[in-house]
Amino acid sequence: MRFKHSDITYEYEKMPELLTEMADMFESISESFGIEPVVTRIMAPVEGSSGVHEAGRAIDFRDEYKEEHLYSMEQREILLDNINQEFARTDNKKSLIWHSFDGAPFHFHLQQASVMSVYINREETKDEKEILKDRVCRNVVTTIGAWLRGITHIR
Ligand SMILES: [Zn+2]
Repeated sequence: MRFKHSDITYEYEKMPELLTEMADMFESISESFGIEPVVTRIMAPVEGSSGVHEAGRAIDFRDEYKEEHLYSMEQREILLDNINQEFARTDNKKSLIWHSFDGAPFHFHLQQASVMSVYINREETKDEKEILKDRVCRNVVTTIGAWLRGITHIR
């Protein structure tokens, strides 16, 4: 991972845990393409945006640079598909977006929601009841298994 300015390095260290986890995934997928990701923005405000950068919940990675693209269209799709699936949200927003503002260079915008309950694929955000239900099901299966083994043993 490289940083456009040294200030961003400090901002990177202060990022929330989940955003760091997402950035790690962005980095490992990029590395599998032989690309070292370049962080261009974390806390710096974007004019006319929702304020997610200022809130410290977003990180931008370079794509378009000097009229060239760092990532191919196929690589871009792989990043978007994998990250948006792993960090799927229930609020119709994406974790990873590829976009440009007012003719500025295209880049990847990775963002974390303000509430954790929107992440459907994550164990820690699962409804307590769901977790309990899973546990009860496993216990029933284990009990029946033991009972069957007991019967076979008697015979
Ligand atoms: Zn952004």
